[in-house]
Amino acid sequence: MSRRVVILGAGVTGLAAADRLLELGGCEVTVAEAEPTVGGLAATVVRDGIATDLGPHRLHSEIPEVQALLPQLLGDRLLRVRRSSRIYLDGKWLAYPLRVGEVLRVLGAATVARWAAGMAAAKVRRLYKSSAGIPPAHRRTEGQPISFADAMRAAFGGPAFRKVVEPYARKVWRADPATLSAEIARVRLPDQSLGAAFGRALRIGRRRAAGPVREFGYVRRGIGQLCEILADRIRTRGGRILLNSRATALQAAEGQSAASHSLHRLHVVVQQTSGQTALDADVVISTIPLPELGAMLPGAEESVRTAFAQLEYLSLLLVVLVAAKDRLGPDHWLYFPQTPPLATRACEPKNFDSSLAPEGRTALCCEITARGSEPLWALDDSEIAARVEHDLAATGLFEPRDIISRFVLRRNWAYPIYALGFEKTLAAIWPFLAGFPNLITTGRQGLFNHNNIDHALVMGRRAAEAVAASTAPARQWYASLDQFADFRIWD
Ligand SMILES: Cc1cc2nc3c(=O)[nH]c(=O)nc-3n(C[C@H](O)[C@H](O)[C@H](O)COP(=O)(O)OP(=O)(O)OC[C@H]3O[C@@H](n4cnc5c(N)ncnc54)[C@H](O)[C@@H]3O)c2cc1C
Repeated sequence: MSRRVVILGAGVTGLAAADRLLELGGCEVTVAEAEPTVGGLAATVVRDGIATDLGPHRLHSEIPEVQALLPQLLGDRLLRVRRSSRIYLDGKWLAYPLRVGEVLRVLGAATVARWAAGMAAAKVRRLYKSSAGIPPAHRRTEGQPISFADAMRAAFGGPAFRKVVEPYARKVWRADPATLSAEIARVRLPDQSLGAAFGRALRIGRRRAAGPVREFGYVRRGIGQLCEILADRIRTRGGRILLNSRATALQAAEGQSAASHSLHRLHVVVQQTSGQTALDADVVISTIPLPELGAMLPGAEESVRTAFAQLEYLSLLLVVLVAAKDRLGPDHWLYFPQTPPLATRACEPKNFDSSLAPEGRTALCCEITARGSEPLWALDDSEIAARVEHDLAATGLFEPRDIISRFVLRRNWAYPIYALGFEKTLAAIWPFLAGFPNLITTGRQGLFNHNNIDHALVMGRRAAEAVAASTAPARQWYASLDQFADFRIWD
């Protein structure tokens, strides 16, 4: 008899896991998704004829498996786009990646000289210290954890750190970078970051360091199409996807103790619009946020419950400004390291794919991150939209009269926050989870991993293979999380 696998969450990771399991065969697959659509963070929302991702999702991967998979999945829907980006600094627009001549002209020789001296000094210091190559957090078990602030200051020197990197880090992470882990710097590739861009523009830093991605892939009609294609493949191969189905509890099947750490069969309790139902599972793959999963499991000691509760995620606010113009500019991304404006980044989706807005209309999708507990998150949609619109009009991106409507989208659980010492928190959680032999957790939310779509695809596929290979994959799974440690985000 084939095994029943229930997957929690129909984001990229959950869909990739279901797709791979059905490819391997031998399992009945059901995906339970809380939202009315598939895609999770990689969904495309359509309103008033305007389509937007939750912050446009470009495709770029250094992983050969994904490089082969994406064209196979997307066919002629995979577009190639040449990147155009700008950064707004001290009230002026600069091309990004930075160009030496423009930086000198716009920021002045004195500023550039200060930054260059700071970066050169930092480079000399790095020759005497080992902090230049930051080892993965989970391999750094000895000594003091390195903070994000220390890592960035060591990489870019004091002046550039204070002027650009530090304000941007505070703005995005809503925290003092001294309280965050250097893991953020390691995962997000310092050599590709804003500060490194200054280094490259000033001809400082590693000679062979690659710049930001200049050409990238995009999906015709939005990233949500990738998830729809995966969902179609899953349904065609006999898998079930239950939408509006929020998992609320994991219980032992009859005849087993709820506190048992060897649940051989599980009931996944799911809340649907029509009421509650239970799905029988021989194995569960969870891609939902770790704190949600933790709250569903029996038998956690106080220290483990505390660890789950300590994991924090940033929420995401997207203000979409709709303009009565065919285009606002040529750019894909616009970066705002300083405040104002309130937004950290804005994108014009139509520049990714012209089919995302009708002729004579375009939109600007403006990103703001927030902690769920802060006043910013509690502001009314209309108030946030008005502030974003006012601030961005002041940068010269559009005239106030160009904007004819606006809407706001919100998502919790957008970015795992790597607080200083977070690896110890995770180290308290994995042994507890490993005690449930037929439950594994994976993906951005499930492994508290600041990943991209290509990584999510791999994390889903590896989870499926682990489940296909064993009826009790958990111990082996948590012992092999190292396989995801070297994932990098390419800017
Ligand atoms: C603003 C932004 C921009 C990004 N840009 C890019 C980019 O340009 N390129 C790129 O490659 N990546 C980008 N990413 C990253 C990318 O979105 C993620 O790597 C990927 O979508 C993660 O997929 P996931 O399935 O692991 O998680 P998620 O997409 O979060 O999926 C988890 C799913 O679980 C569901 N769920 C939660 N709780 C329950 C429950 N109790 N029961 C059932 N279901 C539940 C959720 O609704 C969701 O669908 C970006 C992310 C953000 C936030």
